[in-house]
Amino acid sequence: MKAVWTFALARLALVVGLGLILGLFVGPPWLGVVIAFGLYLGWQLRNLYLLERWLRLRSQLDPPAIGGIWGDVVTQIVRLYRRKQYHKQRLAQLFRELRRSTAALPDGVIVLGGQHEIVWFNRRAASLLGLKRPVDVGLRIDNLIRAPEFIRYLHSNDYAAPLVMRPPTDTESYLALQIVPYGAGQSLLLARDVTEQRRLEAMRKDFVANASHELRTPLTVIAGYLDTLAEDPAIDPVWRSPIRDMRAQAQRMNAIIADLLELSRLEANDAEAPQAPIDVPALLERLARDALARAERPGEVRLELEARAGLLGDAREIESAFTNLVDNAIKYTPPTGRIELRWRVDDSGAHFAVVDTGIGIPSQHLPRLTERFYRVDAGRSRSQGGSGLGLAIVKHALQRHGGRLTVESVEGTGSTFTAHFPPARVVREPTVDGGGDRR
Ligand code: ADP
Repeated sequence: MKAVWTFALARLALVVGLGLILGLFVGPPWLGVVIAFGLYLGWQLRNLYLLERWLRLRSQLDPPAIGGIWGDVVTQIVRLYRRKQYHKQRLAQLFRELRRSTAALPDGVIVLGGQHEIVWFNRRAASLLGLKRPVDVGLRIDNLIRAPEFIRYLHSNDYAAPLVMRPPTDTESYLALQIVPYGAGQSLLLARDVTEQRRLEAMRKDFVANASHELRTPLTVIAGYLDTLAEDPAIDPVWRSPIRDMRAQAQRMNAIIADLLELSRLEANDAEAPQAPIDVPALLERLARDALARAERPGEVRLELEARAGLLGDAREIESAFTNLVDNAIKYTPPTGRIELRWRVDDSGAHFAVVDTGIGIPSQHLPRLTERFYRVDAGRSRSQGGSGLGLAIVKHALQRHGGRLTVESVEGTGSTFTAHFPPARVVREPTVDGGGDRR
């Protein structure tokens, strides 16, 4: 037992003992004991009163100077209170520092609650999105930023990439908005000014487009002279081979410039492609015919039309994308190989696949294939007249149609490039019975 308790019990025993002795001398002994207990109880009540009063008015009063077990209780309460104060101060300080650092962030930060209501935002968020404190705190963010693309993004639950849009307050700049979910249904909305980045990107695209455009005319002149020279019977035979090479290189440069211009045109246009109907089966029949007419091609070229459906889009872009995929299959498949063009429609949309039994692509290259000028084997691509821009064009053209490209390939066995289109872009027609057209 703790010493205070031994002392308290000893004190009680002493008081009762004194009461008993007093009772023995002055009156009945029980009266002495009762009086002793009464006095002891009174003393305890006084201590309890002092303790309760101090707890109630703790901020104004010093701890009561009471002894015994009560003194111990007071000491423990004081210690607990000090510890709590210390932690409270530390938390408050940490919170102040956190707020100060987020307030100083160059990016806008908004804390959103479970219903997308604003819980807190920093100064930068206020200036970027035109938020006002305190009136906007507690309001739902979709009531303040009403742009349809933002509402779609907010409710999409796919926050992997930021959304780039014009801010509600000005039409000159661009903001990248990204939602970062955390905790139970809460999220952070990060806002960054990307106007300068967009301007530089636009400058780079303009530069490429202008440079390509400027190169076109001189190149046409050079190619024209080379054509004339190649056909001139008076030319010294020693020059025939170099002129042929120069002609081939001029043609390659022309192809690169044409691809660069096509890519710039696609990149310059952020909007979705128009919705003009395209007769895809007719287009594929023509592509298959053209492929068969080529001098250097795989032995077998097949067309599998599992559907007669068409697409809604830009006919030129779709043709350019499909042609690029077929051209690649022809380029990278030996004459003994086979290529197949397949068109089918299912619940997830329409799919155009080009399957070849060509050289294939090592898996480490697959994620980067659609980058500009990315080639698995640059020497081979060049010797085949490739610009390294074909798949970048395909990717952009598909993106403008809400579509995407997937690639499956096994090195040495062959590749399958598939263009997928969403159902909204498909014009359904009765499916062709009997497995389609074969060659
Ligand atoms: P390129 O003009 O060089 O063909 P692309 O952008 O069309 O450029 O293709 C990028 C690279 O992807 C090519 O250099 C080639 O290495 C690879 N590739 C594309 N299609 C195929 C295919 N069907 N089979 C094998 N490799 C391919």
